[in-house]
Amino acid sequence: MTQNLRLQAALAHARHGRAVLPVYWSTGGRCACGRVDCHSPAKHPIPELVPRGVKQATTSCVVIRAWWVYAPLANPALATGEVSGVVVLDVDGDHGGFDALRQLEHIHGQIPRTQGVRTGSGEHLYFAYPGIHLKNTAGKLGAGLDVRCCGGSAVTVGAVHRSGQIYDWQDGCRPDQVPIASLPTWLLERLTTQDPRPSVQPRTPHRGYAAAALASEEQQLLKASVGQRNTRLNLAAFRLGRFIATEALARGDVEAVLFDVAARLGLPLHEARATITSGLRAGSTRS
Ligand SMILES: [Zn+2]
Repeated sequence: MTQNLRLQAALAHARHGRAVLPVYWSTGGRCACGRVDCHSPAKHPIPELVPRGVKQATTSCVVIRAWWVYAPLANPALATGEVSGVVVLDVDGDHGGFDALRQLEHIHGQIPRTQGVRTGSGEHLYFAYPGIHLKNTAGKLGAGLDVRCCGGSAVTVGAVHRSGQIYDWQDGCRPDQVPIASLPTWLLERLTTQDPRPSVQPRTPHRGYAAAALASEEQQLLKASVGQRNTRLNLAAFRLGRFIATEALARGDVEAVLFDVAARLGLPLHEARATITSGLRAGSTRS
């Protein structure tokens, strides 16, 4: 029985199917990588152990034990996104993250209770991977709010911040105390909305492009897993609503396709109608 808390935390994640990797630790207030200009102290992968970085994150207890034999002080990091089934919302209190989150909650309603980790300067909120690749973003949601998904990582429980503080589960937010929540739909919508790029994107999308988008949404919806169907339907309606707003697609055509897919997926009609209506409304009113 090993007493290395960092290793224990890494193994606990692995037992839940969450892939981890070893990152540097802090020594004397500096990153153990030794670079005076280190850009990410005590948070970046150890190249001797994981030369390809987060791509080498694993759930193998054998590999994880071996890593911490070589580097017992290594901080554990969680590989985010599809590989672990987790999206992390990083709330950085030093950069206004809590205020920005409060503002978003004021508009959209409270974030559901979910697993969460206390970090050096804020918290990491864990949400179930929504089945859609999300970009890693910094500040897109607001100041001090970052999102880690596919290809990203988040330093996790057991790690020691350079301030000396230990990352730990928030009170009542351990995986054995609360299930991981779904990513709220409004957050998903915000994260999948393209940034406006007026010089590149035409103000009115081409009708051919819009028709292709409609066909693509239909195909993706039909492939959605059972637990993701309603979320995906909402997202499709939201995205297609934007084409209705620019008159690249007719509302009747979009509704016909979405209702048809919902019926083929076996979603109850009243549920599908509510989802489609709210998704289209949100998508067509977003400027
Ligand atoms: Zn470093």
